[in-house]
Amino acid sequence: LMQLAIPLNFIGFIYREIRQGIADIEAMFTLLGEKPEIVDAPGARALVVSGGTVAFDNVVFAYDPERVILKGISFEVPAGKTVAIVGPSGAGKSTLSRLLFRFYEVTSGRITVDGQDISKVTQASLRSAIGMVPQDTVLFNDTILYNIRYGRPEASDEEVREAAQMAQIGHFVEMLPMGFKAMVGERGLKLSGGEKQRVAIARTILKAPPILILDEATSALDTNTEREIQAALDRVSRGRTTLVIAHRLSTVINADEIIVLEKGEIRERGTHGDLILQGGLYATMWNRQREAAEAEERLRAVREED
Ligand code: ATP
Repeated sequence: LMQLAIPLNFIGFIYREIRQGIADIEAMFTLLGEKPEIVDAPGARALVVSGGTVAFDNVVFAYDPERVILKGISFEVPAGKTVAIVGPSGAGKSTLSRLLFRFYEVTSGRITVDGQDISKVTQASLRSAIGMVPQDTVLFNDTILYNIRYGRPEASDEEVREAAQMAQIGHFVEMLPMGFKAMVGERGLKLSGGEKQRVAIARTILKAPPILILDEATSALDTNTEREIQAALDRVSRGRTTLVIAHRLSTVINADEIIVLEKGEIRERGTHGDLILQGGLYATMWNRQREAAEAEERLRAVREED
């Protein structure tokens, strides 16, 4: 019986590894609602990142041929700079980030990293150069330690802890009875959207990629959580080429360039100051959000008086 136990144990181990791998890919594509279809071009080479400049060059894209989502988008994120994409719901903002990660192939035009067309390099090399903090992070049914270390499997416990501190989740984890060994996911501790996002940020801090994609959560977070996440994101994006898909305008004020996307076209572009002066769509969106924030503030003040 003992002779059988070892191979069975081993099969269990393999099964767990495979299941985790599948969970990962599935989680990604469930999020996107699509099946993986992208293959490496014959003779594809590894991407060589020098500074990490990202460029979209007249990119046209359609999920379905009869409905064009992006209608010729060109912009550049210079190495180490931050570009924020804003615009109404359905404008195509998240689609830009999916194309940069090459979950889909552009219909025409091209996307380059340091001058190399991303459709001509290996997917593995492209994805190892990019860190993605998605809107909605799916965690593995495993420990917090495992979930953070996933960013760089060879990282030490100490490095995982440091990343958690930087992502403003370390304190929360240390308060848990099992600490970093606490199980999360479906069969473990249920984390809030904000906590999950901070685990994803810690994972990305460990991965330390030259290029970052931050897709802000649309769901409302309380002011404190939002501030903590913002601080964590500012820290991780410092010195890295960053593309932010922004839903809250408060997070884009310091971007080097803001691109206002509407119905798949660039409607306005510039810094926060430029766009406010222009008095166009961005200025309108800004005023509307500010009014909403002020109204909320007044409401809270009234409640506190009661
Ligand atoms: P939001 O601010 O609401 O997140 P967004 O600007 O990020 O919106 P996208 O998610 O890029 O918008 O979607 C742009 C358009 O593409 C939408 O009309 C959406 O319905 C469509 N779309 C998104 N994903 C798919 C898909 N997998 N298949 C077909 N159409 C899609």
